[in-house]
Amino acid sequence: MPLLGLGVYLVPDGEETENAVRWALEAGYRHIDTAQAYYNEASVGRALRASGVPREEVFVTTKFNPRLEDPVAELERSLERLGLDAVDLYIVHWPQGGPVWAWPGMERARERGLARSIGVSNFGAAELEEVIVAGEVPPTVNQVKFNPFYFRRGLLEACERRGVALEAWGSLTQGNEIDDSAVAALAKRLGRSPAQVLLRWAVQRGVPVIPKSRRRERIVENGRIFDFALSEEETSGLDRLDRSGGTDAALEGPWWTPAAVAGGLAGRPPRSPRD
Ligand code: NAD
Repeated sequence: MPLLGLGVYLVPDGEETENAVRWALEAGYRHIDTAQAYYNEASVGRALRASGVPREEVFVTTKFNPRLEDPVAELERSLERLGLDAVDLYIVHWPQGGPVWAWPGMERARERGLARSIGVSNFGAAELEEVIVAGEVPPTVNQVKFNPFYFRRGLLEACERRGVALEAWGSLTQGNEIDDSAVAALAKRLGRSPAQVLLRWAVQRGVPVIPKSRRRERIVENGRIFDFALSEEETSGLDRLDRSGGTDAALEGPWWTPAAVAGGLAGRPPRSPRD
């Protein structure tokens, strides 16, 4: 899995998603992260085809929407929308209904060659363990909210122990902490942007990132993270911003429970306030 990908959560289907994917591929990204619940797979597929970049060079992830029933049937629909024979990674988007029920269907999707690998998302250490124990094939990836403010050291260690790659969503804090003064000061000293510092913090420890933007200049900026490095001291300074307490949980609270939906989250992750 390439360490840098483009995420397209909340990028509207149509021209905006097509442009974002095109600009990312032009900037050298070779990894796109979409989901059934993002409703923009068809635009991702169109942009991939129009780019002329060979299919085998691009790592494509989509996610099973656990509000639905059948991972195989839903992946077949995704592939039709994407115009692909297979995705590189298919992940259970969140553990709604418990961590294990969808896994046999995910394994079938892999066996049938519809997904080259399968994984999970928003699974804490205990949930990950349940899937590994119950399944025939372990998840390759656990995609979770991960950045210096949500370092989740316990979960990272649990993934490492089990040979599961932790992949970061929210690596740019969904825009919320980009202006943090410690990050800004470090960025200024390095002659980099705060976004580049946050992304570098993750990739330097081998954690793949999938930053999202609809703006070309930001997509390009977010891709320029392989020509500088953070010192050990700089990395541990960022580590100390952690507010997760080194947790091995994936989330501060589930957004899919009836209580969360009634609380106004409308059953989906909080929106990025800015683009
Ligand atoms: P993110 O942390 O990537 O933040 C994106 C926001 O950061 C943008 O909306 C914008 O406000 C800001 N931003 C982007 N580039 C910037 C720059 N260069 N300078 C300043 N601000 C900048 O948040 P995200 O989109 O929630 O997460 C990234 C991707 O992860 C998503 O698009 C999606 O593919 C995936 N994701 C997965 C889950 C999951 O449950 N598995 C949940 C959320 C997101």
